[in-house]
Amino acid sequence: MPEETKKFQTEVQELLNLVIHSLYSNKDIFLRELIANAADAIDKVRFESLTSPSLKAEWQIKIEPDKTRNTLRISDNGVGMTRSEVVENIGTIAKSGTREYLAALKKSDSKNLPELIGQFGVGFYSAFMVSDKIELVSKKAGSDEKATLWISQGESSYTIDDAEMVEHGTSITLHLKPDCKIYLEDWKIQEIVKKYSDFIEHPVKLVSMKKQKDESSALEEEIINSQKAIWLRPANEISDEEYKQFYGHLSHFDTDPLLHIHYSAEGTSEFKALLFIPSKAPFDFLNPEQRKAGLHLYIKRVFITESCPDLLPEYLRFIKGVVDSSDLPLNISREMLQDNPGIHKINKNLVRKIISELKNLIEKDREKYNSFFTDFGRFIKEGVHSDFQNKDKLIELLLFETLNNADGKLFSLKEYSEKMPAEQKEIYYICGESRAVLEKSPHLEFLRSRNFDVILMTDPIDEWILQSIPEYSGKKLKSAGKGDFELDEKTKSEKEDKTKKAVEEHKTLVEFLKKTLEKDVREVKFSTRLTESPCCLVSGEHDPSIQMEKMFKAMNREMPKMKRILELNPDHPLVASLQSLYDKNSSDPKLAEFAEMLYDQALLTEGIPLADPIKFSKRVATLMVDGIKGEIGK
Ligand code: ADP
Repeated sequence: MPEETKKFQTEVQELLNLVIHSLYSNKDIFLRELIANAADAIDKVRFESLTSPSLKAEWQIKIEPDKTRNTLRISDNGVGMTRSEVVENIGTIAKSGTREYLAALKKSDSKNLPELIGQFGVGFYSAFMVSDKIELVSKKAGSDEKATLWISQGESSYTIDDAEMVEHGTSITLHLKPDCKIYLEDWKIQEIVKKYSDFIEHPVKLVSMKKQKDESSALEEEIINSQKAIWLRPANEISDEEYKQFYGHLSHFDTDPLLHIHYSAEGTSEFKALLFIPSKAPFDFLNPEQRKAGLHLYIKRVFITESCPDLLPEYLRFIKGVVDSSDLPLNISREMLQDNPGIHKINKNLVRKIISELKNLIEKDREKYNSFFTDFGRFIKEGVHSDFQNKDKLIELLLFETLNNADGKLFSLKEYSEKMPAEQKEIYYICGESRAVLEKSPHLEFLRSRNFDVILMTDPIDEWILQSIPEYSGKKLKSAGKGDFELDEKTKSEKEDKTKKAVEEHKTLVEFLKKTLEKDVREVKFSTRLTESPCCLVSGEHDPSIQMEKMFKAMNREMPKMKRILELNPDHPLVASLQSLYDKNSSDPKLAEFAEMLYDQALLTEGIPLADPIKFSKRVATLMVDGIKGEIGK
């Protein structure tokens, strides 16, 4: 095939620009990334060699510094790439969400850049931090296609051509930048490999010129990594630093993990697992494609796949790590993993372990747990909704903000219920757009007057989750915007008396309001939740809430129009005034206008747009004129 010059995908160009021009805190990691790619490529061909013995080879990764030519070569005898694979893998970024991510990168100040880039994992492109030019030659294992030569100077384009190569694999030659010559030094290469790639199972060989006894120089090869799989070693022999480095290798993140779980399961299912909880949610964690993320799976130290989603339920997809099973059959095909009972057993076992570690964390290191929950709470909520078996345990892991505590402070249901005053019968919550809006909601007036705390929920999925928790430790979870509150006997009888009196006094007014607002309101009644506002809208006990209705609308989903209950505050002077007006002249046209305004006010306090805002504002203006006249006339 002829030589071609191609343009990088726009996203790649932007990423390259960032990698090359923004100060990256740690250039060393380019070698970690290239070695990780090489090891992945070997893992892949070794897996194929289980069924195609002709592909067997002495697996190795070579690092060759050349001081006379200023180049560093990293080569492997892994699976290699065809020409089209080179174009696809090296010229484009397949990761979804890249565009959004790059936009975030551009917006952030340079201080946060390294961390953000670290979250993304720039992989191969990180080599441009240290190189002016990169040549890559690759030949695909088991294919007759010629090898491919790819050359780029890290600008907008690259060239691609046929090449000669005997063995399958990939060889990458970096033409080092003048200020990066340090990467030609044996000690530097050894240091980096020891730090980041020591546990790579395949030998990493340093091939370099060494002085001989007779003072002449000769090429020598030396294995510079210990090749010990970290997850197989006893936990008490592994330092925190080693765990961190392995996490870096696994996740390509440049940030430390929040927590690691090193676990050895025995009994009906035997496996070793080394799992990590990241310290920050990755930028694309809400991306549907992320759902396919999974753990790396090894069977008896043989790499099977870098992503086995069936090892964990979907809601734990933020966890990174490795599982090495000693009792799954080695000849298992990747397609068969899904329905394998052995995999299911590991899955169950891991979930139990992860939940118990999180429980441990919430009890022992609350600050760390809070930070975990702030970033990953959404996943736990998803679990409450989807994992019936572990639902009760997951509920214990939920944290919430509450009305009586400062913004950002988080409490568990246990903590909330322990602090409930004796006369409070239910656990109250309210869902809405933001804390600021919720704090002012008229639905909370009575609860606030009693100093009853209320869980504040601002994530759109919260309401769904809470609906699947009808009660906690014998106490009902109750939306502050629905149905009637369960009150202590004394308050209940006081409220009943008051309501009874109001019903008698305002019978005609209530009837009038019901009739006038018939098409929007299914009932008009006296409220037990209002102490300040004249009115509010509430939903029936089993109806979807106003918040839920808004969410459906935002998603453009059809929902039958819900008629709500208009609650009136029996103590508000407006009610008495309206009643007087009605008594004076029940056919006064102003009455209907006021009824509609009352309803519009209730809508506004819920943050629901009015059907006819112009009419509303005209009416308010008229009222203001009347009010001002009254003032002046005094
Ligand atoms: P990542 O490794 O995160 O996928 P990279 O940018 O490092 O991202 O690499 C992109 C892709 O290029 C890899 O997924 C792999 O398919 C291919 N690739 C990179 N290096 C090699 C290599 N040494 N051998 C075979 N394929 C490689």
